[in-house]
Amino acid sequence: QAKQDNSNPVRTFSWEMRRDFEQTIDLEKGLREALAGGEFLLHYQPQYHSQTGRITTLEALVRWNRAGVGLVSPAEFIPVAESTGLIVPIGNWVMRTAFQQLKAWHEEGLPPVKIAINISALQFQAQDFIEVVTALLRETGLDPQYVELELTESIAMQDEKHTLATLGELKRRGISIAMDDFGTGYSSLSYLKRLPLHTLKIDRSFIQDITSSEENLAIVRTIIELARILRMDVIAEGAETGEQVELLKLQGCFNVQGYYYSRPLPTDDMTELLKGAFKSDKN
Ligand code: C2E
Ligand code: MG
Ligand code: MG
Ligand code: MG
Repeated sequence: QAKQDNSNPVRTFSWEMRRDFEQTIDLEKGLREALAGGEFLLHYQPQYHSQTGRITTLEALVRWNRAGVGLVSPAEFIPVAESTGLIVPIGNWVMRTAFQQLKAWHEEGLPPVKIAINISALQFQAQDFIEVVTALLRETGLDPQYVELELTESIAMQDEKHTLATLGELKRRGISIAMDDFGTGYSSLSYLKRLPLHTLKIDRSFIQDITSSEENLAIVRTIIELARILRMDVIAEGAETGEQVELLKLQGCFNVQGYYYSRPLPTDDMTELLKGAFKSDKN
């Protein structure tokens, strides 16, 4: 008897491939329309100092409010933006918008927090990356000392010469660099030592069960110690409970970002939060 159709893996596979392909084409088309039609917006998630309770930095996180669809998650559209090159104009829009907004908050007299911007490989590897960042700072009038760029280990490892030169130049211009999702990549300690990094950002996956997993606690302690030895700041991302924040404090990690303090907020809500922080600062 002949085999049934559904036992043929080639056929199933090609259907899936076709569906993925069509989804990618649709997202690419949508992303171009989004750039032209102003469908992107930013949410901001605060980073806190757990001893003082003060906000130190706001991370800009892009959101896409797609016409006829609603909010699309970055996990869905950032990979397509990266593979199509659209991440470059999107990333520039993110930087310009976040710089302008931070400048406006500063001018309103709100606390002088920093802004953290996520940078993709394609942006970082562009020959004119430093010029683009510098031009956007000049255009918006924001002081570079308020800017932190978040890179991942995989970006930093792609072209060592370019990475060292670019990071060195950014540092000379007063811009800070954070290594995002730290601990999930493969960067060697000898390489890490040579990178002019300001901050190690411990990946959420280690923080999530830090109170129940000896292994994750050990990894977190090791990263905190590593940052201390390399004279870098350290921050924990994705802290959701008071227990996690207390345990991090005990280990000497006082910079914390996560739902425990605040989810990423739309601009207006962030303005209110900053106003409240300003009032309590004055008391
Ligand atoms: P990321 O830079 O590691 O950002 C942290 C992500 O964790 C954010 O997700 C944030 O909403 C989420 N998060 C923060 N605290 C908690 C917590 O306590 N619990 C849980 N479960 N999640 C938490 P989001 O906004 O969906 O962004 C996902 C990723 O998309 C980012 O990861 C970043 O890699 C990328 N991304 C976002 N905005 C941009 C952008 O403007 N440019 C680039 N190139 N990538 C971006
Ligand atoms: Mg980030
Ligand atoms: Mg991260
Ligand atoms: Mg992460």
